[in-house]
Amino acid sequence: MTGDVRPSADQETLPSPGTMLRRAVVRHCPRCGSGHVFRRWVLLAKRCPRCGYQFNREEGSSLGAYVINFAFTIGAVAILLVFFIVKAASDESVALAPWLIVGVVVALGVPAFCYPFSWMIWTAIDLMLHGGRFGPSRSPDHGRYR
Ligand SMILES: [Zn+2]
Repeated sequence: MTGDVRPSADQETLPSPGTMLRRAVVRHCPRCGSGHVFRRWVLLAKRCPRCGYQFNREEGSSLGAYVINFAFTIGAVAILLVFFIVKAASDESVALAPWLIVGVVVALGVPAFCYPFSWMIWTAIDLMLHGGRFGPSRSPDHGRYR
């Protein structure tokens, strides 16, 4: 485990927010840094195989990850739209169909690509918000995939 730690309300030590976010953007567990959290890119383990942190603790707790993923997607589509507007402003003969096809590919591909990053970024934010008070439990399905 790397990075500095800070005590939380329940005496558990968590990495600093910067460390958790750095781990999240490389698809590692923000809490312990384990890199075996996903299988086949999008299958998230119920719990971290190293520290046992439960990623989807309760119904609705994944909403933050979906919002982050949606923001990535909207951002990518908006950038594409800006490129199209700039191109169309300088060249009136620009064809719309290729841009629409690229837009559909971006709108479908970006959320699939960003899903694991969104989950880990949300997990880091969630840990920052609740300070790890919902720490690991010891259920028998430790580390299994959904
Ligand atoms: Zn972990």
